[in-house]
Amino acid sequence: MKKESICVYGGYTPKNGEPNVAPLNISTTYAYDTPEQMAHLFDVPKDGHIYSRISNPTICVLEEKVAQLEGGIAAMACSSGMAATTLAVMTVASAGDNIISFSTIYGGTFNLLKTTLPKFGIETRFITPDTSDADIEKLIDSKTKLFFAETLANPAMVAFDFDRYSALCKKHGILLVIDNTIGTPVLVRPFEFGANVVIHSSTKYLDGHATCVGGLIVDGGNFDFRNNPRYADFVTPDESYHGVIYVDEGGNAAYILKARMQFMRDIGACMSPFNAFLTNLGTETLALRMERHSSNALEVVKALIKHPKIEWVKYCGLPDDDNYSIANKYFSGGFSGMVSVGIKGGRSAAADFIRYLKRIRQLTHIADIRSCVLHPASTTHRQLSKEGLISCGISENLVRISIGIEAVEDILEDINQALEKITIKE
Ligand SMILES: *Cc1c(COP(=O)(O)O)cnc(C)c1O
Repeated sequence: MKKESICVYGGYTPKNGEPNVAPLNISTTYAYDTPEQMAHLFDVPKDGHIYSRISNPTICVLEEKVAQLEGGIAAMACSSGMAATTLAVMTVASAGDNIISFSTIYGGTFNLLKTTLPKFGIETRFITPDTSDADIEKLIDSKTKLFFAETLANPAMVAFDFDRYSALCKKHGILLVIDNTIGTPVLVRPFEFGANVVIHSSTKYLDGHATCVGGLIVDGGNFDFRNNPRYADFVTPDESYHGVIYVDEGGNAAYILKARMQFMRDIGACMSPFNAFLTNLGTETLALRMERHSSNALEVVKALIKHPKIEWVKYCGLPDDDNYSIANKYFSGGFSGMVSVGIKGGRSAAADFIRYLKRIRQLTHIADIRSCVLHPASTTHRQLSKEGLISCGISENLVRISIGIEAVEDILEDINQALEKITIKE
């Protein structure tokens, strides 16, 4: 099936007489007739459900659909995007290990990697898009367990150069983990370009309607854990799980099996079946929405780039944008809905722009059907100095606009009337 059809049908095929829509199974537990049947599931969990922290039929529908959309072999839903990232790292890294990550990533992920994981002995070595391959290689040692990046990092709007970094990861046998939240599998499929694990904050485009916080980890099934000394705990028995050897038990899906049976089991950051139901409903229209988010965003930036009160526009779908050539290599069918603009007149003009918008609301959110705006310098990044902002790729006059699926004329009308009202203080 093509991606548009996977959005509609993926993960669920009713049997004779069953509901046509994937049902909401809001049950913690599953009944079995004999102790032998239950015992079998403890040995082979994929043959059925035991307890909804580990798996649930409604959650499975979403997991299966997102795995299909990404072209991976299996997925695990989590309570949030942050939980997905945390579990994705823990599955391969423990105290004494390190990971490599871009610093131009989602602020919450940056905090996790910079401040929280080090408290558990996992160190992050940060790089920027300017770090040379030779300098990255100097950061890699035998304890380096993964390389982390986002397909399209906002609000700096940096597109990930898959060919360059996946070659580096392959050369050293390091797992490449990509957060594809902003890209979405409708526009870019990281496994086709060398990623091994994909992460989503399903809170964003997958849900799309701003109803549920959630996340997913997708296993590409394309990484050889068996013959790689970096990942010894994939080939040695896990005593906490009756001596299972993950590469033997899971085969190509060893990573997601370990994520579920070690870390979802012990940490318990599972998605609720109700959220999985709503998120799955959202994914049914994902392909359609991404088409509209992308075309609306392109029209908005084309209009704003000529506007006298706009200093600059960042959108990787604009042919003269710094990130266009890289993004254009990997994206197809659009460049998503995230736009960053610099308002002439600095910090106060940017704040005024947000003040004067009438319909477009100010939210700490993105990737919603409703357009929304945020001024990072006075909200999400307000603790940072001028220099700190620059190192995150954020200027004081930057306004992040998440373009929704409304009529583009209405979006532009609101933006234009707000820009009109700004008086630039000399
Ligand atoms: C929002 C977001 C996250 C975190 O996800 P939550 O669902 O809010 O926990 C991670 N990565 C990116 C790119 C995001 O936009």
